[in-house]
Amino acid sequence: MRSDIEIAQAAEMKPISEIAEKAGLLEEELEHYGKYKAKVNLDALDRLDQDSKLVLVTAMTPTPAGEGKTTTTVGLGQALNRLGKNAAIALREPSLGPTMGVKGGAAGGGYSQVVPMEDINLHFTGDIHAIGVAHNLLSAAIDNHIKQGNELGIDPTRVSFSRVVDMNDRALRDIIVGLGGKSNGYPRQDNFMITVASEVMAILCLANNISELKEKIGRIVVAYNYDDEPIIAKQLGVHGAMAALLKEAIKPNLVQTLENTPAFIHGGPFANIAHGCNSVMATKMAMSISDITVTEAGFGADLGAEKFFNIKSRFANLNPDATVLVATVRALKMHGGKAKDDLTDEDLDALSDGIENLEKHIENIKKFGVPLVVAINRFPDDTEAELELVRERCEKLDVNVALSEVFAKGGEGGEELGKKVIDILDNEESKFEFLYDEKASIPEKIRTIAEEVYGADGVEFSDEAKKQIELYKCYGYDKLPICMAKTQSSISDNPALKGRPEGFKVNVREINVSAGAGFLVALTGPVLTMPGLPKRPSAEDIDIDENGKISGLF
Ligand code: ADP
Ligand code: MG
Repeated sequence: MRSDIEIAQAAEMKPISEIAEKAGLLEEELEHYGKYKAKVNLDALDRLDQDSKLVLVTAMTPTPAGEGKTTTTVGLGQALNRLGKNAAIALREPSLGPTMGVKGGAAGGGYSQVVPMEDINLHFTGDIHAIGVAHNLLSAAIDNHIKQGNELGIDPTRVSFSRVVDMNDRALRDIIVGLGGKSNGYPRQDNFMITVASEVMAILCLANNISELKEKIGRIVVAYNYDDEPIIAKQLGVHGAMAALLKEAIKPNLVQTLENTPAFIHGGPFANIAHGCNSVMATKMAMSISDITVTEAGFGADLGAEKFFNIKSRFANLNPDATVLVATVRALKMHGGKAKDDLTDEDLDALSDGIENLEKHIENIKKFGVPLVVAINRFPDDTEAELELVRERCEKLDVNVALSEVFAKGGEGGEELGKKVIDILDNEESKFEFLYDEKASIPEKIRTIAEEVYGADGVEFSDEAKKQIELYKCYGYDKLPICMAKTQSSISDNPALKGRPEGFKVNVREINVSAGAGFLVALTGPVLTMPGLPKRPSAEDIDIDENGKISGLF
């Protein structure tokens, strides 16, 4: 089989104006970025109804390589169109850090990709850069304020708003700024995060329009003063300029799949310290032009689906109609005890043991009242006996299941899955509900997620977290939904616990407030907001020839 980039470069793309016209968008609503990419003005959201069905693609607890949510999302969109439905998809935009580091790209795979894949993986329409600059304007304003007399009494040891750059650069994790004497300000310790970890990214993905974006940016807690009171972005007066820098970035980007299905790729917040979903505006734009919208959420369902339901759907008033839960034989075997580099040989015992992981995710999605189908994403080494075993076990649990071969066959390979999804949309009613009331106390909300979703026997809060809970109560931040920052490698907060962990408590060591985005971030373990490059980064393989042809993305 050809590599992802070879398949993508051989794609027969249609001009984006043609894709847009077929989708019912007007020429004046488009802003072209070359022939195959366009931004769509938010006016289209007012002109069109968002009356599409909404399908969320999520996954079991993954292996480090990912189990194929993006690939399945793209493939399902293509399959639904083949089956005569009018489907569109909404996805996150890849960050340059992972592209240059280990991943090499994140626009689907095989015959289920979004194109032009080189552009999507390399800067795309510049949204992430705009977010980085808007973010860094606020960082600069903070240090400038301190230097210019510090009227707000900002405690330089308690500036929580760091700086960002869209690259994996571990040397920038802990730095000292303000060196060089009086004219350069006050020296203080600072940090860089990768841009997609910026709260501005999370805000862009949860705002409905430019006014809301500005309003939310104004609410970002950037530091504390000497009296322990929060200082917010609005007090520094640059939130308007930040929103101005984002005037183009706020518009969803329209591209297409290999089979010309319309795809909006817009926004890509972290899935641990943020909610890990593409922008609300992109989801709504897809819902404006289709009868069925397929979208994804980052990490496994314990994080991605939970946050899609409890955070994104809450803020955007979404009512998900169906969930596709992606499972792979290799991940199931890993949860059944196999080492992650020993997943290719047939092993029905390990597979059978590992299915308990999938079962827990199935139970969890049912708790939200959303009908689901398990998609078995077929990999080349999977044996018939293994695939059959997964199917049988799902049928025994009375849950819909379909084999998905969208990687190898594109939309055609997703027809079984597409038919099951259509059947659910036609015949099963979603009784979607949030798992907790946002007005409940912070410990109550965290306990609900830990016990109901992770299967924990309770939550331990560190002294630091307890102090923060009291502080947030004083400032009215306790009524926000919770964004759990937890390992994606286990349903528990301990990455070593595979399968369906039991008899554990979740440890919350710190709670941060993302008051702009509108959630509290509960940190259960170390979270790396500035990844490093591996010994041999993917960047060493990426190249461009004299004709402008890119190679080495995969
Ligand atoms: P996720 O969105 O869950 O992280 P992706 O869809 O990005 O997962 O897939 C992860 C990687 O696995 C990608 O490199 C993709 O090309 C590859 N992949 C996905 N599905 C298959 C499959 N069925 N066979 C082979 N490779 C696959
Ligand atoms: Mg993905």
